[in-house]
Amino acid sequence: MARKKKGYVELYWACPNCKSENLGSVTVCGNCGSPQPDNVEFYQGSHQQLVTDDEKLKQAKAGADIHCAYCNTRNPGDTKTCSQCGSDLSEGAQRASEGRVVGSFKAGTGALVKCPNCASDNAYVNRKCHNCGTPLSHKIKADEEPKAKGAGLKRGSLMVIGAVVLVLCAAIYFLFLRTSDVTGVVRTVGWERSVAIEAFIPVQREAWLDELGADAEILSCSEEVRHVQDAPPASGRYEEVCGTPYNVETGGGFAEVVQDCEYQVYDQYCTYSELDWTPISTVQTVGRDLFPDWPAAALASEERLGEQSESYACIFAAGGEEYIYTTDSFTEFQQCEIGSEWTLSVTSLGAVTSISQ
Ligand SMILES: [Zn+2]
Ligand SMILES: [Zn+2]
Ligand SMILES: [Zn+2]
Repeated sequence: MARKKKGYVELYWACPNCKSENLGSVTVCGNCGSPQPDNVEFYQGSHQQLVTDDEKLKQAKAGADIHCAYCNTRNPGDTKTCSQCGSDLSEGAQRASEGRVVGSFKAGTGALVKCPNCASDNAYVNRKCHNCGTPLSHKIKADEEPKAKGAGLKRGSLMVIGAVVLVLCAAIYFLFLRTSDVTGVVRTVGWERSVAIEAFIPVQREAWLDELGADAEILSCSEEVRHVQDAPPASGRYEEVCGTPYNVETGGGFAEVVQDCEYQVYDQYCTYSELDWTPISTVQTVGRDLFPDWPAAALASEERLGEQSESYACIFAAGGEEYIYTTDSFTEFQQCEIGSEWTLSVTSLGAVTSISQ
């Protein structure tokens, strides 16, 4: 993810002495003159406006404030000596709140702030009520905060899912895995052998344009997302996909407005045709003895034999029931002499999983 920087917003702090709200850039309470405590928590208003004032921008970019180790005065992050007592600030404590996500960015100052004393509506930028002079607060009340949705499944439904999975596992075990032994006699056998016939013909395939072989004949191409990366590519078509902007505290009474973005890079994805050996038909032989043959095929020019497959069956009689054992092992099949006696492992559904003598 690339973090795009969109600007800065000013935060607020509440005076612990008189509860007045002050702007983040102010270091002494405008109401009672108390200094801002070094552990003060900055908060954002319900709406924010990007800082355009040069002086405030400079303050915002200075980073986390440094509190003087001797007089505790708050100094901007880019200063070396204390503005109050002149001490070296290298021993001072830099505010640790830098990098904290304050909240999501909500632009605009059109909202009104209701006076907690006389209920008058005030312009968003007002610090005090225009009617009664009561200090206003821009702090978002807890019930206005967007509620985090109850993500995920409740405990109850998880337990139900667990129980269903358990029952399914048990069912699979009893129906398909658990076997019992049955003695059976080979009554008859059967076999089937097949061979694919391949021809060297044009086939349609799909691939990225730069992956095509020299003899591929391009039929059509279209732009598709090939990969996603953190930075825009140097060339070619791409699409920027960004999340909601949010505010990250600088530690100096401001927050930087940032947005996480990624870049979907497009490329040509093509349908093409090329000559390749391709199965076009199958020849098959079947029999009911222990001597299987491979099928013979008359090949035309530009044709060849492809993949072979074989399947054998031994059919047993046991206690009036018939059991069929299938295998692709010719060696095993050859031992299924008619009339020979075997021990069969049979599942609850009557499938034979293995045979032994
Ligand atoms: Zn105060
Ligand atoms: Zn100082
Ligand atoms: Zn008022």
